[in-house]
Amino acid sequence: MRTVRTATEMQQVALSHKVGLVPTMGAFHEGHLSLMRAARAECASVVVSLFVNPTQFAANEDLELYPRDEERDARLATEVGVDVLFVPSAEELYPEGFATWVDVEEAGGEAAARPGHLRGVATVCVKLFNIVRPDVAFFGQKDAQQAAVLRRVVRDLNVDVELRVLPTVRDADGLALSSRNVYLSTAERAEALALPRALETGRSAHVQGSDPIAAARAALNGLEPDYVEVIDVGDARVLAAAARVGSTRLIDNVVLEGELR
Ligand code: AMP
Repeated sequence: MRTVRTATEMQQVALSHKVGLVPTMGAFHEGHLSLMRAARAECASVVVSLFVNPTQFAANEDLELYPRDEERDARLATEVGVDVLFVPSAEELYPEGFATWVDVEEAGGEAAARPGHLRGVATVCVKLFNIVRPDVAFFGQKDAQQAAVLRRVVRDLNVDVELRVLPTVRDADGLALSSRNVYLSTAERAEALALPRALETGRSAHVQGSDPIAAARAALNGLEPDYVEVIDVGDARVLAAAARVGSTRLIDNVVLEGELR
């Protein structure tokens, strides 16, 4: 596996068609690896970007604390058969005078809870699409609204890339894998299980014809939600929630209707 650190070098790497891109912030877990394996199965060249994108963090968020271990990530990516690990610096992607943003008009959910977050995500992904020029880019259902926003960006700006959205990988007890789970103490890890359980309760309520949001809220077991909302993601409708466990903010969602693709 080759590691590339500049946009210019990345644009010059000879990749064979079809090219798959998996954008990540690193600290790989099985969720990331499942996207890389899907890319490996479908594409001739697989590029994984590893970039803790500062523009998607607000000033009071965990940018500095965010787990980083490039050596371990490179080893895991090599094992999965990734061809190129693209690891740009913040200065490389946001040079002095950077002033152009991809700002999707999105309401609710993460857009309301984290102002500027989705703008940072959309902007960095368009930059990565332009630098890597993938035919296909792979995202996780775990960040369903991010996938929805990127579908809008690709459609609205005529970006020539196909998007795939793959199912959320969970621990055996149901907690969605997340790089942020390392912040949780043992007690918090146990408390956090209320989030997937509440979403499952909401999903069952929906199946029985009652309000999934009310049912999920009632089952949060004391967790403080930022929101519990129904969000459309492409052809699917998901019940999504964000909640704080101690100082850690977790998000999760379950599909209510349709299929994520
Ligand atoms: P991140 O490094 O957290 O920005 O995530 C990079 C990609 O991995 C995003 O498309 C996420 O949606 C996806 N991802 C994160 N956690 C999971 C998970 N538990 N299952 C599947 N995909 C995930």
